[in-house]
Amino acid sequence: PPEDPGLVVRDLAVNYGPVTALRGISLSVPRGSIVAVLGGNGAGKSTLLRAVSGTLRFHRGGITAGEIVFGRTRLSGAAASAVVARGVVQVPEGRRVFARMTVEENLRAGALGARDRRAAAGARERVHTLFPVLAERARQRAGLLSGGEQQMLAIGRALMARPAMLLLDEPTLGLAPMMAARIAETVREINAQGTTVLLVEQNAAMALSLASQAYVLEVGEVVLSGPAADLARSDEVRRRYLGIE
Ligand code: ATP
Repeated sequence: PPEDPGLVVRDLAVNYGPVTALRGISLSVPRGSIVAVLGGNGAGKSTLLRAVSGTLRFHRGGITAGEIVFGRTRLSGAAASAVVARGVVQVPEGRRVFARMTVEENLRAGALGARDRRAAAGARERVHTLFPVLAERARQRAGLLSGGEQQMLAIGRALMARPAMLLLDEPTLGLAPMMAARIAETVREINAQGTTVLLVEQNAAMALSLASQAYVLEVGEVVLSGPAADLARSDEVRRRYLGIE
């Protein structure tokens, strides 16, 4: 509905001290959609997610211009905990699970505001249905899971907060093609269940197959954007990001 535009980023600039990482970034992620952000190493993809999730300050970065709005709430300037409370949850790159804690303890750590125990139980059931292996390995240490299973756990932990929107940072990085395909399929399923997704990926083919809209970042600026299907056909994207001459 037009009264809820989802996530809107307007003319965003981000610096790390003297380093400008993003400038003039504008994009939107309509409620219920998957939007992809593509770009090579250092293009600023992680920085964009950190700006949305309120975690820039942990990396000595800051927003110097523009604004980020989700629904009716301004996220720019909000603390990370306030962003999560608004339903916007980041799955960090490198699937940082708590390696020495069990799978179950990792999931519990994601269930914020566990005052509502029935809600937490419902969230856990959703996670276990999406990723049965997390139920099978509930008592195992997370550090003993395979790379793909750790990615599942990282996504599952984020889902425990019952997010309206997920920020996914390179969920298939370093995974074998079969596992990457499974993760992609799950992202599609999570979205079909009603969760809005902002997906940052170097795997352009995968991201463009999931997303409705996509943006290409280069050295901190949006250089190309449009419907994902159009970008997948664009000669420039095919040459530079899909490896097709
Ligand atoms: P990657 O996939 O390698 O993470 P990326 O597209 O996510 O790349 P960012 O990590 O957002 O890119 O980095 C964007 C720019 O900001 C780069 O030039 C990077 O060197 C710089 N940068 C990132 N984090 C910091 C930091 N904590 N301090 C200083 N500069 C940083």
